[in-house]
Amino acid sequence: MPGTSPLRLCVVGASGRMGGTIIREAPADRFVITGAVAAADEPAIGKTLKELDIADIDLKVTPPASLRDLLPSADVCLSFTSPAAEVENLPSVAASGRPLILGTTGFSEAQHAYVLETLNAKIPCVMASNFSIGANMLFAMASTLKSLPADFDISVLEMHHSGKADAPSGTAKTIAEAVSKARGYSSTVYGRSGMSKRARGELEVASFRGGGMPGEHAIYAFGPNEMLKFEHLAFSRSAFAQGAILAAAWIAQNREPRVFSMLDVLGFNP
Ligand code: NAD
Repeated sequence: MPGTSPLRLCVVGASGRMGGTIIREAPADRFVITGAVAAADEPAIGKTLKELDIADIDLKVTPPASLRDLLPSADVCLSFTSPAAEVENLPSVAASGRPLILGTTGFSEAQHAYVLETLNAKIPCVMASNFSIGANMLFAMASTLKSLPADFDISVLEMHHSGKADAPSGTAKTIAEAVSKARGYSSTVYGRSGMSKRARGELEVASFRGGGMPGEHAIYAFGPNEMLKFEHLAFSRSAFAQGAILAAAWIAQNREPRVFSMLDVLGFNP
């Protein structure tokens, strides 16, 4: 909107693959980076985003202890780090009252419960295992599998770069939940080896890791005589970064203090 001041973003994980992409992708006429935070032991600390070749911005990367000073002058915090880092940093973010875009994946069940308890009803937050628009369309499509006959078996395949630590991906877990809900599945098999025939009512999830693959997810529905495949391929991290930036603009519009999903941002949830 003409005359509107740019939205001030504090990016946590600024020296990482996702944080760097978000900083580069945020259009300068609508967003300004006011905080760039990384792990305290990173060589990036104390260097500017320009020196690090992340973006042409003279802003220094600072350690997590700087969050308390940075958050009051930011409109939205975006965090793409690691589960352990989120457990450490989120109490400061919640105490700041600032809206949050949380993209970190790989939380254990206990960490996930802690994150929800720390954020829910405290600050407006969009938490998503995948911020790309297409992958969220895939989540929505998973619910349509309920209409297939019982003799269709459903499998999920995901592929990511060799630097990804968690498997299966957070996105695959979200898809698995949606498929299991739609199909009434009670168990999930991660990979398959040895003597184990597929049982009815069982979801199968497999992960590949290799090279620079930014991320592919596919849902297969195997019928006795035909196969249906829903597939999403991210060409680059820009797909996630642009979704996260869209979510930042959405959450800044005086949302209530609760944890939203990317489906809420895209208007897929009623
Ligand atoms: P990366 O390893 O390239 O970067 C991690 C960043 O976190 C680094 O800048 C590091 O300094 C920072 N960090 C680590 N500990 C920290 C701490 N205590 N405080 C502040 N910063 C800290 O990782 P990446 O590939 O950018 O991925 C980051 C996370 O985002 C992962 O969990 C990944 O699975 C997830 N991810 C999510 C989406 C999505 O759409 N939701 C897409 C891609 C990746």
